[in-house]
Amino acid sequence: MRDFAHEIEQRKQAGLYRTRRLISGPQQPALMAGGTPLLSFCSNDYLGLANHPDNIAALISALPKTGLGGAASHLVCGHHDAHHQLEQRLAAFTQRSSALFFSTGYMANMGVISALAGRGDTIFSDRLNHASIIDGCILSRARVQRYAHGDVGALESMLAETSGHKLVVTDGVFSMDGDVAPLKALARVCRAHDALLVVDDAHGIGVCGPQGRGSVLEAGLSEDEVPLLIGTLGKAVGTSGAFVAGPAVLMDYLVQKARTYIYTTAMPPALAAATCASLDLIEAGESRREHLRELIARFRAGAEQLGYELMPSQSPIQPIMIGGNQEALALSQALEQQGVLVTAIRPPTVPAGEARLRVTLSAAHTCEQLGQLLRALAQSRALLSGRASPPVAAV
Ligand SMILES: *Cc1c(COP(=O)(O)O)cnc(C)c1O
Repeated sequence: MRDFAHEIEQRKQAGLYRTRRLISGPQQPALMAGGTPLLSFCSNDYLGLANHPDNIAALISALPKTGLGGAASHLVCGHHDAHHQLEQRLAAFTQRSSALFFSTGYMANMGVISALAGRGDTIFSDRLNHASIIDGCILSRARVQRYAHGDVGALESMLAETSGHKLVVTDGVFSMDGDVAPLKALARVCRAHDALLVVDDAHGIGVCGPQGRGSVLEAGLSEDEVPLLIGTLGKAVGTSGAFVAGPAVLMDYLVQKARTYIYTTAMPPALAAATCASLDLIEAGESRREHLRELIARFRAGAEQLGYELMPSQSPIQPIMIGGNQEALALSQALEQQGVLVTAIRPPTVPAGEARLRVTLSAAHTCEQLGQLLRALAQSRALLSGRASPPVAAV
């Protein structure tokens, strides 16, 4: 038999071993981790809605009416009023004709991509796309061509050389770099070369665009220009699940063909009700986004002043680039000793040699908490360069 234990040992040697940290209590900046209080800067709860009393109240009040379990798939007898209302709410929120509610973003990407492209077709995928997109491409059995990150010129030449059915897929806001795809240019080349554009805006929904409608609406792109808009609900929306939004004919097609939609149990309907409540908070939540933007600006100024290498990101995803796996782990551990939790992100989640600390900011963080992060980063700076860290007073 294959030596699984040996493979685990090799991962440990390479600084690639992964563990799960045990959290108790609700998700919020002040986390209880293994009985120790830690100030977290690594969740995707960008607006602080995962523990919002209005969303919790909406869930509790829906439960007696809907019961708990989903009980069946949507195509058998699981498609509940509450799911239907959420789909209408999501269509309105994204300014699309219709929407389909999936159980997770992973399943939405797998289902959408494998339903809309197959053998003989070609999928063009940004090199830094999320793992669920990569897996959706594999599952589709289509030919897959990866283009350099954000390189619309390279994509356009590939499209020009390819005939047959073409699908282009990209993250909206990239999950590990925090930058935004060149959506307008992508929409233009897709139209010019008759390719179907799919945008996964898992990290844009709730955070950017008018009233938090995401990166696609921030770029002013209509349903004609971006026919398939995917969003997840477990990040800024603070609940769980995902959706795809677009023309009714494509939603209908997905109901026929998307296996991760068809062959899975419907989510608990009460959760859909809680998600509707969360969308209300997002639409009315400009002050949350305003505070978040301020935290982002302050973090970037502070970390750059300390000599850390950041990425050109204006989103709440603010990676501190390190390079080596062990170095990234060491910095993460040094921060943890100071009560701050930022996980090290290593290959294969990011390319080899690009290990980083993925700092994520949330509207739930106070300016004082951000100061705590910057002070901890100042204290740990010497770890990376061997140089003395700049004076803490500088932040
Ligand atoms: C998190 C994420 C997903 C997966 O969504 P889940 O609902 O967590 O399964 C898909 N795409 C991107 C870009 C993501 O960051």
